[in-house]
Amino acid sequence: MTKYIFVTGGVVSSLGKGLAASSIGCLLEARGARVQMMKLDPYINVDPGTMSPFQHGECYVTDDGAETDLDLGHYERFTGAKLTKANNWTSGRIYLSVIEKERRGDYLGKTIQVIPHITDEIKTAVRAVAEKDSPDVLIVEIGGTVGDIESLPFMEAIRQLGNEEGKNNAIFVHVTLVPYIAAAGELKTKPTQHSVRELREIGIAPDILLCRSDRPLSLDLRRKIALFCNVQENAVISALDVSTIYEVPLAFHEQSLDSLIVEDLHLTEQFPNVDLKKWRELVATIKEPSEGAVKIAIVGKYVEFEDSYKSLREALTHAGVANNLKVNVNWIESEGLIDDKNYENRLQDYDAILVPGGFGKRGISGMLRAIKYARKSGTPFFGICLGMQTACIEFARNVCGLRDADSTEFNADTPFPIIFKLRDLVDIEELGGTMRLGAWQCELKEGSLAREIYHNSPEISERHRHRYEFNPEFRQVLEKEGLIISGISPDGKFVEMIELPKDAHPFFVGCQFHPEYKSKPLNAHPLFVSFVKAAHENRLNSENLKDDVSSDKQIEMPERAAVAGEE
Ligand code: GLN
Repeated sequence: MTKYIFVTGGVVSSLGKGLAASSIGCLLEARGARVQMMKLDPYINVDPGTMSPFQHGECYVTDDGAETDLDLGHYERFTGAKLTKANNWTSGRIYLSVIEKERRGDYLGKTIQVIPHITDEIKTAVRAVAEKDSPDVLIVEIGGTVGDIESLPFMEAIRQLGNEEGKNNAIFVHVTLVPYIAAAGELKTKPTQHSVRELREIGIAPDILLCRSDRPLSLDLRRKIALFCNVQENAVISALDVSTIYEVPLAFHEQSLDSLIVEDLHLTEQFPNVDLKKWRELVATIKEPSEGAVKIAIVGKYVEFEDSYKSLREALTHAGVANNLKVNVNWIESEGLIDDKNYENRLQDYDAILVPGGFGKRGISGMLRAIKYARKSGTPFFGICLGMQTACIEFARNVCGLRDADSTEFNADTPFPIIFKLRDLVDIEELGGTMRLGAWQCELKEGSLAREIYHNSPEISERHRHRYEFNPEFRQVLEKEGLIISGISPDGKFVEMIELPKDAHPFFVGCQFHPEYKSKPLNAHPLFVSFVKAAHENRLNSENLKDDVSSDKQIEMPERAAVAGEE
C-alpha cells in the first residue's frame, strides 16, 4: 500500500520546495523505501515546453519525452524514481483532459464543475502514479504558494486525498519562511502563522513545518511556532541555507525529519535504519575536493538566469565530484562576445568551453567565435544540442570554406544549410510538443572518443529536445575535412555526435542530445566526467607551459581561408 506525503509552500515562492521534497525522497530511500515523486503545477500551460526559460527556468525532459518542470530534475537527481509524463500535471493539462472527456460525452450530460470533476481528475492522476509503480511512498509537491487562486483545486484535491487515505497513510509537509527582520534584530514567525492559517482554512492541517531561515531557529521560537501552528515541537524543522543543495538531506536528517516521517506514516518498523554514507562522502567531496579546481566558460543564451541551465550546472558539479575537483563556472552571454575585440583574451582564462542548448538567432555569432577559439587553441570544447549544431556550422564555414553555412533556424536562405528543420516536422507549425523529444538510441563509432568515453558501449540512449537536425547532404564534405561523425541513430537518419580527431584536438565533442538530464550526483554522466577531466589536463598543461616558453599550444588544422566566411 502506498503512503502519501503532500508538500505545499507558503509565504513566498522560491523557498526550495522542490529540493525539500527531493531531500525527503532521498532520506526515505536511504531508509530502504521505494519512492515515487510527482509535481502538480497550478499554471494553465499544458506543459512548460512552450514557456520561456527566463520565465520558468529549464524545461526538464524525461525518457518518455515529457517536457516538465525543472523540479522533476531534482527528483531524478536525488532519488532513483523514474519519471514520466504521469509525474507532472498542470492545471492546463487537467482541464484539457476534463474538457476532452466532456466533448466525447463521457460525463453523460452532467454539469462539469471544479468540484468534483476537476478535483477527481487530479486525484485520479495522483493515484495513477501510486497504482502504476506501487511505491512505498509517493511524494506529491504542489507548485505555487498557499493562497493563490489558481492552486485551490489542487489544494482541495489533496485535502480530499488525505482524508480518504486516512491519518497514518498521508501527511502534509508545509515549507514556509521565517524572515529575519534587521530593524527588530530577530526572526519573525508571523508570516508562517498566517500561511498555516490559510492552509487550515482550506481544511489542511500540516503535520510538519520546514521553516526556511537564514539563521538557526531557537528552541523558544520552535515552541512558539509549534503552539501557534498546532504541530508537535519536533515537527518544526529548521531549513537553513546550506552551501550545496546536496547537503539538504543531511541537514534534515540531523533534525530527525526522516524518523518523524516514518513514525507519522507508521513505517518505522518497515524502514528502521538509515544509510547516508555515500551521500555524506558526496557532500564532503563537493566541499573539499582533493584535486583543486577547474574553470569552465559556458557560452550561452540565457546565462543571466541560472535556472535556465539547472541540469547542466548540476551535471558539471557531479563530474567535478567524480574527478575530485571543484568546477567553477562562468556564464558568458554569447551576444557579449560578438563585438568584443578582446574576446580571445577573455576566453584564454578558461580551462574549457561549453556551448549549451538554446533556441533562436540571438547570440549565435558569439558562440561561433567561442567555438573557433576552442578549436584552434586546443581548449577542450563540449557542445550540447545547439552547441553541436553551431560547432558544425563553424567547421563548415571556417574549415570547409562553405561561406555563410548556417542552420535554417537562423538563416532560411543560407546556401549551405548544414543544420535544417527535422524532416519529420516539415509543414508542422504548432509549437507545443512538436520537437524530437525524449530518449532515442544512438550508435557509437568504433575507435571514436565518444565510444571511449561511454566505456566502449556500441549503443547508448540519451534524451533529446530539438527541432533542427544535421543535414546528411553535408556529411561527406565535413568528414572529408576531418570532422568525425561519432554517433548516429540506428536508422542512420540522425547525426547524434561529432568530434575532432584525437590527434588534432584533445577534446572537441558535440552531441545533439542533452546528457545533463541523466547525470546524477552519485553517478556522474561520462561525457561530463571526461570533459571536466580534459579541462583539468588542460589546466595542468598550461601551468607547465608557462615554464616552457618555446611550446606553442596552437592546433594546426588546414583552413580554406580564401573562401571562408568569417563567423
Ligand atoms: N534550437 C535548436 C533546435 O531546435 C537546438 C535546440 C536545443 O539546444 N535544445 O534544434
